[in-house]
Amino acid sequence: MIVILLGAPGSGKGSISNYLKEKHGFIHISTGDLFRKTVAQDTPLANKLKQIMLSGKLVDDDTTNEVVRQELLKINNPQAHIIFDGYPRNVNQLEYLNKLTKIDYAIDVQVDKAEIMKRITGRRVCPVCKEIYNIYYKKPKVENTCDKDGSLLTQRNDDQESVVVERYKTYMSLNEPLIKACQDLKIYHTIKNDRLDNAIKQVKDICNLQ
Ligand code: AMP
Repeated sequence: MIVILLGAPGSGKGSISNYLKEKHGFIHISTGDLFRKTVAQDTPLANKLKQIMLSGKLVDDDTTNEVVRQELLKINNPQAHIIFDGYPRNVNQLEYLNKLTKIDYAIDVQVDKAEIMKRITGRRVCPVCKEIYNIYYKKPKVENTCDKDGSLLTQRNDDQESVVVERYKTYMSLNEPLIKACQDLKIYHTIKNDRLDNAIKQVKDICNLQ
């Protein structure tokens, strides 16, 4: 089963993906995570990506599509359940993925705009297991420390307010045609993510997961 998650930055795509990975054995492909890994290296590509990501703009489609193609080659299993988080971000990427593999569900994770800033600026991530926390809504038991493996939590550079505003603008400018293209493919569904457990229940209903 191939699921793609659409939705604004901070809509909870990462948390939903983590759940599907842990409880239902999905392979999680997050282009944002893949780019952050690349940025951590000291290469010309890393420096280029860093600039783009800190401007809140998107990495070009050829680079992004190639990264995804490589991930699918590594998995090399037509039966795998895969959740794409943050990809595709525009119609070009959707068309590319749709040629590589059949997409079963596109789930648009909707959250009020007012809520987004608090979610993103409060977000903290475990660099080891990728568990996502929030200093307002989902505090770790010990301040700034991952409950699962004790790692020191980090904040993404692009979760600063000024970058988030740009990321949201980028998302809004591409969202409508992407939704329309998913509707044309008859894979489009929406869910409301007011609370994570509600969102997960809706995802499970759409994908017929027990
Ligand atoms: P995310 O973690 O999905 O919010 O992605 C963080 C940043 O990585 C984005 O603001 C983009 O600069 C870049 N990025 C992630 N996914 C994509 C994508 N599908 N297409 C282009 N750029 C992306």
